[in-house]
Amino acid sequence: ARAAAAVTPVGPGALADGTLVPLLANLGSVAGAADALAKGAEGVGLFRTEFLFLDSDRAPSVAEQQEKYTQLLTSFAGKKVVVRALDAGADKPLSFLNDEPEENPALGLRGLRALRANESILRDQLSALAAADAATEAELWVMAPMVSTVEETRYFTTLARELGLTTAGVMVEVPAAALLADRILADTDFASIGTNDLTQYTLAADRLLGSVASFQDPWHPAVLRLVGEVGRAGALLGKPVGICGEAAADPALAVVLVGLGATSLSMSPAALADVRAELSRFTLDQAKEFAEIALSANSAVEARVAVAAAASSLT
Ligand code: PEP
Ligand code: MG
Repeated sequence: ARAAAAVTPVGPGALADGTLVPLLANLGSVAGAADALAKGAEGVGLFRTEFLFLDSDRAPSVAEQQEKYTQLLTSFAGKKVVVRALDAGADKPLSFLNDEPEENPALGLRGLRALRANESILRDQLSALAAADAATEAELWVMAPMVSTVEETRYFTTLARELGLTTAGVMVEVPAAALLADRILADTDFASIGTNDLTQYTLAADRLLGSVASFQDPWHPAVLRLVGEVGRAGALLGKPVGICGEAAADPALAVVLVGLGATSLSMSPAALADVRAELSRFTLDQAKEFAEIALSANSAVEARVAVAAAASSLT
C-alpha cells in the first residue's frame, strides 16, 4: 500500500536562538480559516471585519455578526484571534458608516473616528464579539483601527471592557500614535502596527495612487524609526506589539521588524512559509543588528540593500 502523504509538521515561528515570534494570518473572511491553518498560522493577527459587510447597505445586526464571529472563533479554538472593529472609510467605504462625501477620505472620518460618530454600530459589534467569545474557546483580542490619540485609545479600551471583552488594543497606523506609543500602550493591552497606512501617512503618499506608489515602501527608515518607537514602548511596558501590515510578509523585512521590537507578525497566509524560514536563520541579536543597519540608511532602497548585504555576510 502506498504510504499516506507525509504531513510536514510546522513548528511555531522562531528565531535561530529559540526566541518565539508567533506567525499569524490576516483574514477577511471566515472561509479563509482552513487555508490559514493548513499553512501553519498560529492564529489570526488581523481579522478585517469590514470585508464581511462591504456590500451591505445597512448596519449588520448583533445576531448576524455573532453568528459570523462564532464561526471564526470556532475555527481557531485554542488560538489567538485578533479582530479589528470595522475600519470603514478611504479604501474600504461602508455605505452605512461613510455617508458624507469627503475631499480626502484617507484623512477623513474613517476607522475609529467613523465608529465613534455612529457609536451604536460599534457597541453592537463589540457586543456580538463578546457573545461569540463567551460561547467559544479561542483567545479573542479586539482592536480599533486608525487611532491617533491617547484619548481615542482610552475610549475604545474602556468601551470594549465595559462590553465584556477582556483584551483590547489599538492599531498604530498614524505617525502620531507611533510617536506617543508609550502613552498609548500605558492605556491599553497591546498595539498592532498597520504598516500599510503607517507608510501612507508617514510619506504623505496615497496608498491607492499609482503615481506615488514608489513612496509606499515600508523599508523607508522614517517608517522603521516609528516602528522602533512602538517596539521600545512595548518592551518597556511589557505589552505585545504585533505587525499586521504587508511589511510582515516580506521575509527580510520581517527579521528587521522583529529586531525593532515586534513580538508577533501577521500576514496573508501565502507568505507564512517564507517568513518562517527566514526568521529561523537569524538570532535576536542579529535581527537587532539588521534593524540598526536599516535605521541608519537614507532611503528604503539603501536599507533593503544594506540589510541583504549584512545577512549574506553572515551566512
Ligand atoms: C495597515 O494599514 O497596514 C493594515 C493592516 O490595515 P489595512 O491594510 O486593512 O488598512
Ligand atoms: Mg490600515
